[in-house]
Amino acid sequence: MKRIYLDHAATTPVAPAVLEAMLPYFTEKFGNPSTLYFYGREAKQAIEDAREKVAAIIGARPQEIIFTGGGSESDNYAIKGAAFANEARGKHVITSAVEHHAVFDTCKFLESRGFEVTYLPVDEDGLVSPDEVAKAIRPDTILITIMHANNEVGTIEPIAEIGRIAREKGVYFHTDAVQTAGALPINVDELKVDLLSMSAHKFYGPKGVGVLYVRRGTKLTPLIHGGGQERKRRAGTENVAEIVGLAKALELAQEGMTARNERLIRLRDRLMNGLLEKIPELKLNGHPTRRLPGNVNVSVLYIEGESMLLNLDFKGIAASSGSACTSGSLEPSHVLLAMGMPHEVAHGSLRLTLGNENTEEDVDYILEVLPGIVEKLRAMSPFYSQAHSQARA
Ligand SMILES: *Cc1c(COP(=O)(O)O)cnc(C)c1O
Repeated sequence: MKRIYLDHAATTPVAPAVLEAMLPYFTEKFGNPSTLYFYGREAKQAIEDAREKVAAIIGARPQEIIFTGGGSESDNYAIKGAAFANEARGKHVITSAVEHHAVFDTCKFLESRGFEVTYLPVDEDGLVSPDEVAKAIRPDTILITIMHANNEVGTIEPIAEIGRIAREKGVYFHTDAVQTAGALPINVDELKVDLLSMSAHKFYGPKGVGVLYVRRGTKLTPLIHGGGQERKRRAGTENVAEIVGLAKALELAQEGMTARNERLIRLRDRLMNGLLEKIPELKLNGHPTRRLPGNVNVSVLYIEGESMLLNLDFKGIAASSGSACTSGSLEPSHVLLAMGMPHEVAHGSLRLTLGNENTEEDVDYILEVLPGIVEKLRAMSPFYSQAHSQARA
């Protein structure tokens, strides 16, 4: 069967050149970087080369780069680390209502430990207002954490503007850049961030490795105690092969970024326009222009995202919906609800995220398959027949 992967916001395949760069570090270059003999020095050198590459790409100093176990760990470390290290100055944190669960649930955890968290609202496109950030800052605010781009609807937040406000007020500023690292240019000075999270598996690197950028002078309590690795900021023998893979993947992403994004935007717009044309009563979600190059998010009225997913899977297409049915109960996405979408519309959301290996033929195949699926599901939907009989009456 023809298979099309359209869930690049969830994860990406490891690029062949990345795998190739990693392989020696599983076998002949297996040394523990903390040891002093040849094997250790070789592994240590590979990590420091990777650190320099990553630092240069995001405009940081190598000492400001900490390798972690992925995006979730970087978010946890930034938020808990900054909160616990600075609680004597205050216990107030500002975030947004559309963050990834790695940020959202970490903020909830802080609340259970006596911190106060402000969850800023967003507009109907999913944008956080810098003015609202400024208004929410109090004398006891120690951290602001707002994502660079949203993983569900693709909206790119005004990070540099928020960074300017945070710096003026002397408040630490963290951004979850897991969706933008490798996808958009990132410069930590232009964004005016003190802390920034990335994850390799979102940019054609391996799973389970990430970066936390920590601006010099930023006080953080470590999350993992033990050995003195990563300048005592993250204990544990380094994941050498994956760190090498992360740096290689980020380097590759950086090299072809402009041309790749032009291509992705063309594919994305072909897909969005095609869906609007072929499926009546469909709504585009997220900001129309300030959005990730590969992100398409739509709500198809009167049907459920999950049913569309299952039908698409049956046709070989892998996509994502806005509902998380992990606990058995279908909860619509907190992101779409925060954007003011009614429950029933949020339930009908579908996320299609394009990547490097997708083609125009892939897009045309979805445009061929999805309208039929929607028609079939609507024919069975009581909400659809209700709405349409009312309209006729
Ligand atoms: C995927 C993702 C994460 C989590 O990263 P992992 O490496 O999977 O732990 C955090 N934030 C955003 C915005 C993401 O898209």
